[in-house]
Amino acid sequence: MEDCIFCKIANKEVPAKILYEDEWVIAFPDIHPITPVHILVIPRKHIESINDLTDNEENEKIMGRLIMAAREIAFNENIAEDGYKLLIRTGKDGGQEVPHIHLHLLGGGRMKENIGVVGR
Ligand code: 5GP
Ligand code: ZN
Repeated sequence: MEDCIFCKIANKEVPAKILYEDEWVIAFPDIHPITPVHILVIPRKHIESINDLTDNEENEKIMGRLIMAAREIAFNENIAEDGYKLLIRTGKDGGQEVPHIHLHLLGGGRMKENIGVVGR
């Protein structure tokens, strides 16, 4: 996807500190961290959102790799033992801003539990 910032990061057209990469996914720090550790894990393949995940083995593999990569990064960042939060926003109501699937790995302190609805 030409104008997708996360595709550009995955293709190394835009620099980012790559913290993990494999055949399926790549991870880098969020540009505006909201927690001491805030890392985005994305598929190399451009998939806009969870809504666009066709039910097939490749997409199962990709979504599995997102979690496995987040787990490995959590150990590398020394937050695995204390714990962390994994978050995927979807669409307008979910607050998704970048239309390329990304898993937020949030950690480095006890998470606020502030999920709720503010309206539409
Ligand atoms: P969303 O709201 O879609 O779940 O999360 C998008 C995230 O991407 C935000 O936390 C935002 O700070 C991050 N982000 C947006 N643009 C860039 C960028 O160019 N580089 C990096 N590293 N993060 C970005
Ligand atoms: Zn993309």
